Amino acid sequence: MGNYEIILSELEQTHTRLIAVSKTKSVAQILELYQKGQRAFGENKVQELLEKYEQLPKDIEWHLIGHLQSNKVKYIIPFVHLIHSVDSLKLLFEINKEALKNQKVQQVLIQIHLGNEETKFGVDEKELIEILEYYCAENGSLQNVAIVGLMGMATNTDDEEIIRTEFLYLRNLFRSTKNTYLLHKTNFVEISMGMSSDYKIALEAGSTLIRVGSLLFGSRT
Ligand SMILES: *Cc1c(COP(=O)(O)O)cnc(C)c1O
Repeated sequence: MGNYEIILSELEQTHTRLIAVSKTKSVAQILELYQKGQRAFGENKVQELLEKYEQLPKDIEWHLIGHLQSNKVKYIIPFVHLIHSVDSLKLLFEINKEALKNQKVQQVLIQIHLGNEETKFGVDEKELIEILEYYCAENGSLQNVAIVGLMGMATNTDDEEIIRTEFLYLRNLFRSTKNTYLLHKTNFVEISMGMSSDYKIALEAGSTLIRVGSLLFGSRT
């Protein structure tokens, strides 16, 4: 069995789905996995996602997992299934505006900053609450976005306890958020966490979407 089959078998007893992270990998490599049945692929750059979209079967579900700049939102909205990396209210409003133009409701996750590596994107709890208050407002102006969950990246470390603590923090934040703000939103269901090096810990902590790249496609140079 290859890693793909191994990971799928590990997911069988769970409600977790695999996003195959294909950034820097070729169309041919993506097709190989597509032919095994994989339909959800993740990219971290808008331009690269668009190029691959053009060349690949149209039933692929594209996930944008990397940082998104407001000025690129308009290019991606027609083609993207789920944006994992919303990290500001400004970006959410831009997504809403472009989704309205495209007559779609864009599904997004709010990226939560985990750990303390300064380079990583994501919001803290306070910013999350601010976003949700706009989102849940009665006369809400965010009609064309659906916040379907939270996303996070654990600290890049060999210390599994640190990673576990961060994933459990995200899981608990998801639950408290759901219970406090989003009980009436039945589509707030996703916790996107876990990559090649830490997806097993993420599964134990309740991940619903794992984003795995190098374990499937080989390491990136
Ligand atoms: C690259 C990337 C992944 C996948 O990383 P691997 O270590 O190759 O599995 C997951 N999530 C995000 C946000 C990424 O940028």
